Amino acid sequence: MASFKNSQPFAKGAASTLQSYVDIVDKYVITSSTDIYGRITYVSEAFAKISKYSKEELLGRSHNIVRHPDMPSAIYEDMWQTIRSGNAWSGEIMNRAKDGSAYWVDVNIEPDIDTDGTIIGYTAIRTDITAKKQLQDYVDVVDKYVITSSTDARGRITYVSEAFATISQYTKEELLGRAHNIVRHPDMSKSLYKEMWHTLRSGEAWSGEIMNRAKDGSAYWVDVNIEPDFDADRNIIGYTAVRSDITDKKQIEELSVTDRLTGLFNRLKLDDVLENEFRRYQRYQTPLSVIILDVDHFKQVNDRYGHLVGDEVLTEIADLIQNNIRACDIAGRWGGEEFLVICPSTPLEGGMVVAEKLRKAISNHPFTTTNSQTASFGVANLALNGDLNQLLKAADDALYRAKQNGRNCVESAT
Ligand code: GH3
Ligand code: MG
Ligand code: MG
Repeated sequence: MASFKNSQPFAKGAASTLQSYVDIVDKYVITSSTDIYGRITYVSEAFAKISKYSKEELLGRSHNIVRHPDMPSAIYEDMWQTIRSGNAWSGEIMNRAKDGSAYWVDVNIEPDIDTDGTIIGYTAIRTDITAKKQLQDYVDVVDKYVITSSTDARGRITYVSEAFATISQYTKEELLGRAHNIVRHPDMSKSLYKEMWHTLRSGEAWSGEIMNRAKDGSAYWVDVNIEPDFDADRNIIGYTAVRSDITDKKQIEELSVTDRLTGLFNRLKLDDVLENEFRRYQRYQTPLSVIILDVDHFKQVNDRYGHLVGDEVLTEIADLIQNNIRACDIAGRWGGEEFLVICPSTPLEGGMVVAEKLRKAISNHPFTTTNSQTASFGVANLALNGDLNQLLKAADDALYRAKQNGRNCVESAT
């Protein structure tokens, strides 16, 4: 008896524990039951809360009151088929709350079966995965649109986004584990990468414009920002880069400095280069030579063969110039049938050598339609206290003298 009496408070305690457990479930577990037709027979407070309906509004209604129109109906067909045949179904479902907003739940639905094995309804338990789904959406957007990659400390790719794979034309699988220089373009200067690695290894971020090479060999330009990844002890464990595609911008930039006919730099770009070289001269007194060349009797070409052949001659001369100057020299179309070659860090004699080389190359070249062409050359050097206008005037004067001297020759400024 004593033990029975003693057990009373315990039993009462169990009941209240159970009640508080039921309360907690009601409050926090998104659960509902329906009859076999899918009409709601029970909903928890948590279900009411997330769906923004009251319990009263839900009870007796069809469960598809929370169905979201964007969910494919195949999912529901599969679900009903599964649970009607007595099996549990689980999956991720987007529902629609009373105010029309969407919420995602991870749902598990089980048939309620009575003692003789008949299905009498269904009970579902859900967890709210809206935040997870939103995060996943965000991650998907980043993956799809942001050209990003991570490497280990040695530069081996550990992660690439879909956007990176798309622009580089490699698959993610082809990229993972490979050295990042798989997309390096051979035309990019080695010193740029040296400087980049130096900055990154010292723990700092690096940014700049880089031309990369896609799998098919084509070039694409990216504006890249690379940051070192650190462990807790601030050791560098890798690098993460985010890029934007600036290929269009680069193409426009290139178009704006290119002469349409010859593909050489245009006057705009030549002026730009001259300004830069002049500033360098002012600071460091490095010599600078310029060569102006003018095609001889070019008017006759147009008159005899027509304008198109004239254009063809100009293009062939442009190619000859480009192929007979040094990598550091800059050639462009100065106007009409005149070209300018800028030779940085080159004294007058050096400029004369380049001009003579070009003169020979042009006069020896078998032109496609006209057979032979010549050009005359004026060379000038940025003398002390000279400015750009004086330099160009001196070259022009020298060219005039070359014409006077019978053409197909090189004259220098005096
Ligand atoms: P010189 O030896 O004295 O330089 O004689 P020239 O006939 O070359 O000199 P001139 O300056 O009288 O003629 C230049 C000609 O170049 C005139 C112009 O019609 C032609 N020209 C200029 N630009 C172009 C072009 O883009 N295409 C073609 N086909 N002709 C051009
Ligand atoms: Mg001319
Ligand atoms: Mg001419």
